[in-house]
Amino acid sequence: MPELPEVEIVKKSLIKKIKSRKIKRVIIRNSNLRFKLKKNFRKKLENNIINNIFRISKYIVLELNNKSYCVFHLGMSGTIHLVYKKKNNITNTSFYSSPFLPKKHNHLEFIFDKIKMIYNDPRRFGFFLIFKGRDSLKKYFLKLGPEPTSKSFDIKYVKKYLKNRNKNIKNILLDQRFVSGLGNIYVNEILFYSKLSPLKAGCKLKHKEIKNLIKFSKKTITKAIKKGGSSIQNFTNTSGTKGHFQNSFKVYNQEQEKCRSAYCDGTIVKLFISNRSTFFCKKCQK
Ligand SMILES: [Zn+2]
Repeated sequence: MPELPEVEIVKKSLIKKIKSRKIKRVIIRNSNLRFKLKKNFRKKLENNIINNIFRISKYIVLELNNKSYCVFHLGMSGTIHLVYKKKNNITNTSFYSSPFLPKKHNHLEFIFDKIKMIYNDPRRFGFFLIFKGRDSLKKYFLKLGPEPTSKSFDIKYVKKYLKNRNKNIKNILLDQRFVSGLGNIYVNEILFYSKLSPLKAGCKLKHKEIKNLIKFSKKTITKAIKKGGSSIQNFTNTSGTKGHFQNSFKVYNQEQEKCRSAYCDGTIVKLFISNRSTFFCKKCQK
């Protein structure tokens, strides 16, 4: 599943390749994504220039010159491919390990002058929406909490939020209304660095523990963006090499490995919390 750092890198690549370009044509091969594409989807996009591209949490927003916003989310398995028309489907400008465009599941095509942006998604949990005007865009994102790297994700905010929450801290961190953009992989890592058990109730966290949690949330995400994403499922950075954050996972997928904390002789265990794989060291994560 693409996580926030991957989405950030996709955004950066799109800025390089398609910002300020006109969408000449849109080809819809399958409109049955997570939400069925609206009937006027093509019409709203075609012949418009992409004035700006930005990211809100794990959503990418294309701002058009007709004051509409095309918002998309990659879901579980969505990938964006940038293909130069002349180069026979070689996606050397994309971020995925295969240098070729996949043969199946290319549901959407945005055609620009010399380049095409293709949306591929085998599981079709991703989606595209269009909003008219900034207010309706804002309204859609109103429920999202701050991003881990934003200033408003601070001790005051987190402390207040956790005060009466009996839910375990792992599920709280995955709740996008509390903090937006953290997915399962990074939450496992953040809890390891913070020395917190994923099963601990949110309201049981002490002041110092909350401070650590905030610090490592910011650090982990910033570091992952720098390293070019986690390389989970084919993900590679813009230069075509795999992201190498996964080489430095401390607990994620490290079941039965020795704990990597200094002076800890524990072993990483795996269990499921709300159906999501959870990895941690019982000895040093309390
Ligand atoms: Zn340990």
